[in-house]
Amino acid sequence: MSKRIAVVISQSPSKNPAKRKLEEDVVLGLMLEPGIDVTVVPNLYDIKPDSTGMLALQGLGGNLVVLAWHYERATHWILDRHGIHGHVGETLIQSDPDEEPDEESPAEEDKQRVIETREVPNRRIYAIDLRATNKPQDYIDEIKRIHSENNVKVVGLGDLIGGPAGTAMRPNGEANGAETKEGDSILNRIEPEGGRRWYPVIDYSRCTNCMECVDFCLFGVYGVDRIDTILVEQPDNCRKGCPACSRVCPENAIMFPQHKTPAIAGSAESAASMKIDLSQLFGAPAEGKTAAEIASIERDEQLIMAGRDAVGSQAVLAKRQGDIEAGPADELDDLVDQLNDLDI
Ligand code: SF4
Ligand code: SF4
Repeated sequence: MSKRIAVVISQSPSKNPAKRKLEEDVVLGLMLEPGIDVTVVPNLYDIKPDSTGMLALQGLGGNLVVLAWHYERATHWILDRHGIHGHVGETLIQSDPDEEPDEESPAEEDKQRVIETREVPNRRIYAIDLRATNKPQDYIDEIKRIHSENNVKVVGLGDLIGGPAGTAMRPNGEANGAETKEGDSILNRIEPEGGRRWYPVIDYSRCTNCMECVDFCLFGVYGVDRIDTILVEQPDNCRKGCPACSRVCPENAIMFPQHKTPAIAGSAESAASMKIDLSQLFGAPAEGKTAAEIASIERDEQLIMAGRDAVGSQAVLAKRQGDIEAGPADELDDLVDQLNDLDI
């Protein structure tokens, strides 16, 4: 008997027809394979916590394959932030095939990472970057390979069929509720709810809980949980387009998956390679500056846009500012939105 596996396809936030075609070609190919349950969701990063899309994802049990327009690391930790935990599943499709993980120095190895303090459920999450290849068959073949190496029963998808906002249908167009034969593929589509979002995503396999990000951010984005572990507490307080705290994290644990700079967006590149940043777009000098100096400039830009005083590079003591509301979208926010929508 074929074991089932859940595959999630996260749609591009842009309306780029080539991207949409790639997504649909992968869906169509998977529908011809037995035992694969496909859920198509809006852009993973933009899905809100209580939305139908997130509830659908949280309802998927067993091992999970997730195809998204993000680096694999970003996809893994976006899911983690929404309570979808698991071990990293190894895939043969990589967005940075030549990038070797940095060797840790002995001092680095001594550091305790947040992930070591957590229990990770016995499931694997296989994240695949849809930018890795433009051939749908490559993704289909890799999913078939993962499927064949998996022995864990997938449960929970049945809960999605006929759900309030999802549209479940068979490859032959039969409506919801038709009897599923053993091995039939199932397709579930979740419609978009809400718009684009911008917030930091923490990689807890790198994070040492040093709290530098809490000290640095003056918009009340970060907080701690009941055991004093760092978390992104108020994601929507983050200033659209601002990547500043990703530059001050000593472990390169903070990602902005939609940022154009790979090292900020979650690629395997080291933090030291971060050279391009939005401060250039805003006309601020980046040449010859350290990452911390650039981050201070970016933070000052955001403070001024929010109608507050710049603080420069002076040390700012840790103060959670959860009562600070994010400022209203202004013209510069709109410009960043438009640049993102260009999808270049
Ligand atoms: S600065 Fe980086 S390593 Fe330190 S707590 Fe924040 S995310 Fe974790
Ligand atoms: S420092 Fe900037 S990028 Fe980082 S969380 Fe605060 S507002 Fe967002």
